[in-house]
Amino acid sequence: MQTGASDRPETAARAAAREAQDLAEALAAPVPEAVLAESVEARDAPVRKIIHVDMDAFYASVEQRDNPELRGKPVAVGGSAARGVVAAASYEARVFGVHSAMASVTAKRKCPDLIFVKPRFEVYRAVSQQIREIFADYTPLIEPLSLDEAYLDVTENLKGMEIATEIAAEIRARIFAATGLTASAGISYNKFLAKMASDQRKPNGQFVITPKNGPAFVEALPVKKFHGVGPATAERMKKHGIETGLDLKMKPLAYLQQHFGKSGAYFHGIARGIDERRVRPDRIRKSVGAEDTFSEDISDLALAEAELRPLAEKVWRYCEAHDITGKTVTVKIKYADFTQATRARTLASHFARIDDVLDVADQLLATVHPFRRPVRLLGVTLSSLTTAGASSDTSEEPQLDLGL
Ligand SMILES: [Mg+2]
Repeated sequence: MQTGASDRPETAARAAAREAQDLAEALAAPVPEAVLAESVEARDAPVRKIIHVDMDAFYASVEQRDNPELRGKPVAVGGSAARGVVAAASYEARVFGVHSAMASVTAKRKCPDLIFVKPRFEVYRAVSQQIREIFADYTPLIEPLSLDEAYLDVTENLKGMEIATEIAAEIRARIFAATGLTASAGISYNKFLAKMASDQRKPNGQFVITPKNGPAFVEALPVKKFHGVGPATAERMKKHGIETGLDLKMKPLAYLQQHFGKSGAYFHGIARGIDERRVRPDRIRKSVGAEDTFSEDISDLALAEAELRPLAEKVWRYCEAHDITGKTVTVKIKYADFTQATRARTLASHFARIDDVLDVADQLLATVHPFRRPVRLLGVTLSSLTTAGASSDTSEEPQLDLGL
């Protein structure tokens, strides 16, 4: 946990750098592999063959598979209640502009015929297990990004197959045969490009980016499509005149580091089609966190609590998608003068419901109220993590009702 802080008055430049730092931290929480920008471990290694496999509209496709009445119709997995959020949308719903992480009320407005279905995570986990077993026939180097996505390093594969596109096609065919569900794949020489490539021929397609055409591919791509560049970062980049990979490539490393902090080096690399992060099997996260800097500082406890909810929801959605839960909640409070406080509580057992996470977060926040200064940033982190499936034997029911 981060503790300690600076009390020094800040110049405008330092405040800007600080903002970039906040952004890097915020990014680091939900999309860690995008910003870790591992150093040069693989410089002398041969060209890698990486496949990114991504199930098509996963939760929604599972629901359409299991309930024929949903086929061909706009389906959203998630709750339709006032606070509900779309966890996944079928392709029929996407036509109307419905997408995951969208508020359910917004989705319903965009698509009045939208059918909401409650998520069945135990089914999604079972399918996820099936596809991972298929992957394991090809390589032990499997790095899941969530239940429905994984990187595979097939440079040296267990089948002795030479051509990575053939491996990808075979894996997709086997996934379909085993589950009745389609997957798309991206094939390239690093993780970033493989991930970008898997989006190119969705659904039920695949796309390869070779070392020869990688740099040109990145140059033409809008940065808002880059993995690791969320809407907030894309907006910031736009203010710096960066809208495409080529724009990004024109900016020197020092400039990107100054304005985007820890993510600068990663951005500098991917603008050139360079990404040296290895495929890391069985990576175990220590924590999942989200935070937000407010446009106006907050003094009121109720307002601050209202800001905690979307943060807790973001953390919880990430945990669901990655099949994990935790038993320690930490609330971080950064004040207008950039000092900060953290408060944490660990429960005897792992959280099974987002409302419980939120209750603890609210209690922790209340311990620092009245705030010693107006609050400029709040963060919520879940740690002491475990696999949700492993801990859910006694909590399967509540887990199906996560306030989505
Ligand atoms: Mg997917």
